[in-house]
Amino acid sequence: MGLFSRRKTHFVDSDVLVIGGGMAGCGATYEARHWGRDLKIVCVEKANIERSGAVAQGLYAINCYMGMQWDENQPEDHVRYARNDLMGLVREDLGYDIARHVDSTVHKFEEWGLPIMKDPETGRYMREGKWQIMIHGESYKPIVAEAARKAATEVYNRIMVTHLLMDKSKESRVAGAVGFNVRTGDFYVFRAKAVIVAAGGASHIYKPRAVGEGMGRTWYAPWSSASAYALPILAGAKMTQMENRIVLTRFKDGYGPVGAYFLHLKTYTENAYGEEYESTWYDQTKELVGDYIDRHPVPTCLRNHAFLEEMKAGRGPIRMVTKEAFQDPHKETVGWENFLGMTIGQAVVWASQDIDPKHTNPELTTSEPYVMGSHATCSGAWASGPEDYSPDEYQWGYNRMMTVDGLFGAGDTIGGTAHKFSSGSYTEGRIAAKAAVNYINDMGKDVPRVSEDEYENLKAEIFKPLENYEVGRNEIVAGTVSPSYLLPMHGLQRLEKIMDEYVGGISSHYMTNEPLLTRGLELLGTLKEDLDHLGAEDLHQLQRAWELQHRVLASESVAQHTLFRKETRWPGYYYRGDHMKLDDDDWHCFTLSRYHKETGEWELEKAPVYHIVD
Ligand SMILES: Cc1cc2nc3c(=O)[nH]c(=O)nc-3n(C[C@H](O)[C@H](O)[C@H](O)COP(=O)(O)OP(=O)(O)OC[C@H]3O[C@@H](n4cnc5c(N)ncnc54)[C@H](O)[C@@H]3O)c2cc1C
Repeated sequence: MGLFSRRKTHFVDSDVLVIGGGMAGCGATYEARHWGRDLKIVCVEKANIERSGAVAQGLYAINCYMGMQWDENQPEDHVRYARNDLMGLVREDLGYDIARHVDSTVHKFEEWGLPIMKDPETGRYMREGKWQIMIHGESYKPIVAEAARKAATEVYNRIMVTHLLMDKSKESRVAGAVGFNVRTGDFYVFRAKAVIVAAGGASHIYKPRAVGEGMGRTWYAPWSSASAYALPILAGAKMTQMENRIVLTRFKDGYGPVGAYFLHLKTYTENAYGEEYESTWYDQTKELVGDYIDRHPVPTCLRNHAFLEEMKAGRGPIRMVTKEAFQDPHKETVGWENFLGMTIGQAVVWASQDIDPKHTNPELTTSEPYVMGSHATCSGAWASGPEDYSPDEYQWGYNRMMTVDGLFGAGDTIGGTAHKFSSGSYTEGRIAAKAAVNYINDMGKDVPRVSEDEYENLKAEIFKPLENYEVGRNEIVAGTVSPSYLLPMHGLQRLEKIMDEYVGGISSHYMTNEPLLTRGLELLGTLKEDLDHLGAEDLHQLQRAWELQHRVLASESVAQHTLFRKETRWPGYYYRGDHMKLDDDDWHCFTLSRYHKETGEWELEKAPVYHIVD
């Protein structure tokens, strides 16, 4: 037994265990109580659900609302929209399932006190765009968290989940999870009949544009550390579309959102010489992707592509033309409020750089890539679909159950369903929880059991970085450098450099190819070996160490999927230099992977895309 494995162990028994109390996790916790009145529902969160996850700072718009009560959109319309934006490849069954339920979620938010802006003339929710409604959303997360807190039997804040536990009597069935309290250092064993992973997406797997003192300034939440992917991957769950990492065009340096600007303020972009540039790249893009460039709206990745090509042609920077809109005092107010409600940092950056959008058109940039399943991208776990709507091939059990029994997911965790955003992620949490309760009800007496050996071994493994540090610090050669351990920050920077240079990050203009990916995977392999020697000075660094472990595994998955898909499906998100064109004959399909942790091997395959909506 190691020095630090003598820590106190707490055992928590539950029926439904929800990992991550962000939007999807709060939705799952709330709904699990609705269907499972007498069940023990536990939510475990590494921060505090009051202000955790990507919505922590608040939002200014709910980006997924059909408006069926006013016949504004139907679920089928949303499926067509998401399919178009993702260049043809989405799980239409899962997307439809969210779209048909999402309005009821938004109505609940309003009932719980979320102020939704209304059109004074029609009384309807004020639209920012076809799918977006505007909110005063600084307190969006606390409002959503309150309902989850009331529904849960227990919420455990400040516990980072590091591994799932498997059933000792049945292969490929989940039985719980383990983690540690980031404040006390106590070890937790959660035993559960069903587990819902809702642990958000992944930032900081690629080198960010802002480094050094600014490295926390990423578009996706810096605390989204890929647990949503690493936990299922380690449990042997199949993943899908992990190559579909997203790149965002946002205001430079602060990553302030552009949605309200484009849609509500009607601002537009231009190159350094005041010229419209997207049409310049029409023919070239058509060569690469064919008719997809003619779709409306133009897919997000293709708009990025025109931006990148214009920059490479030497006509940057690209700017957002705000000077006209900001002459209108109402629009000026909306422009600033938009940031104050969700990305205060952008307002601060502009103030610090002497940018008043009334007098200066601010620069835009493209972000480093992120992995997520809820935005204009759909990486994540491969999940079973709804009984009444999914083709047979997409159904092997309960709705939103992964390929591991009893393991469910929602939000950024689940792949194939782009454009669910905050409201859709919450809705998917509700869908997963209902199915998890059904799973438990059908289980009878055949309940999963955890193995003492498994959690005791994990306990030693989890606290090992503290021990590595305690021993290795005697050999410090300079500052923080020791020959016997690797600090989490050093490991993170090494990961980001590999992903950036070999797997299509910002410094290569998102370009990669087979030789680069192969070398990148070799380097990730050596990084993985070194992770056994991570050293953590304190509990905070221990959390960083495990976040790094999760990020590295998710990154390996991204690299494997990118290598497997031999085409460039989403120019503007990334390019395969050796296969620059979209290839619908061979690659109009999903990519699936499965990781074998005993051997470290990845198994990849294709799965068909069924177009259910015409
Ligand atoms: C800058 C930005 C702008 C956005 N704008 C909008 C918008 O305008 N409108 C809109 O509708 N949507 C918007 N979104 C999208 C929306 O925030 C996400 O779709 C949604 O939050 C995803 O929900 P989730 O539950 O999957 O992840 P999250 O809400 O991020 O929740 C994940 C939770 O898991 C926890 N967690 C992670 N790892 C662990 C672990 N190992 N152990 C325990 N807990 C863990 C995290 O702390 C977090 O609380 C935006 C997102 C960002 C980042």
